[in-house]
Amino acid sequence: MTETYRTIRIEQPADGVRRVVLARPDQRNAQSPELLYELDAALTAASRDDGVKVIVLAADGPDFSSGHDLRAGFDLPRDPVATMEGRFERNGVEGHYAFECEAFLGLCRRWRELPKPTIAQVHGRVIAGGLMLVWPLDLVVASEDASFSDPVVAFGVNGVEYFAHAFEVGVRRAKELLFTGEAIGAAEAKQIGMVNRVVPREDLERVTLELAVKIAQRPPFALRLAKASVNRSQDAQGLQQAMDTAFAQHNLGHANCLARYGQLMDPSGADVIRNALRAAHG
Ligand code: ZN
Repeated sequence: MTETYRTIRIEQPADGVRRVVLARPDQRNAQSPELLYELDAALTAASRDDGVKVIVLAADGPDFSSGHDLRAGFDLPRDPVATMEGRFERNGVEGHYAFECEAFLGLCRRWRELPKPTIAQVHGRVIAGGLMLVWPLDLVVASEDASFSDPVVAFGVNGVEYFAHAFEVGVRRAKELLFTGEAIGAAEAKQIGMVNRVVPREDLERVTLELAVKIAQRPPFALRLAKASVNRSQDAQGLQQAMDTAFAQHNLGHANCLARYGQLMDPSGADVIRNALRAAHG
């Protein structure tokens, strides 16, 4: 717990429970590359710490996460990109694809396979890339005000890079979520099995912690086996292959925008999403 982070905070609220808190409340926890890599470092450190049995991911501010921080340059071809796989040129979609492979899809898959139980403690809005901090985790506890949306079809792509939509909310609901960009509320999210519990906002932290403490008393290796077995069951249903295909289609969308507009996303997308949000909230 000696690491210093700028975009997240680390807490130890109970024996065996590590709480990682997204701490960019002024940006509604928009995900810059710095935040993603700090989060990865914190989750890795928690995994390696024998004193940690369960990991909770929570957030400061009014919203859990407003998605990828577009001001951080995610809409630009990257110049040249250095990932763990090597360097990639900026021309075309090559560099951005390498970046997304590592920082978006790659990190999410890593977090899904962390060797300890993980719980997302969710309040407020979870928009687009925000889903990528919720879906890879094992359990989700949400407050009544939580909502979940993926409006990025407006940007000319299929949906967020970690394309688990059909598995998380079912086929029909996934299509409606993507086609309309409209949010799923907490109550419905529970009804369709996307979240485990919905509680009043003031009870969110307590209920999540009680759940974490309860799980932390179980034998760690058996928990690890249980988690891996459920994950492999989902993989056997085709999750990984479906996500690989969707990720290629996602980057086809980026390539199409680059050819049409000279940038990786449809430039009208931000206005479309802003207007829809304004209409939904009056
Ligand atoms: Zn993308």
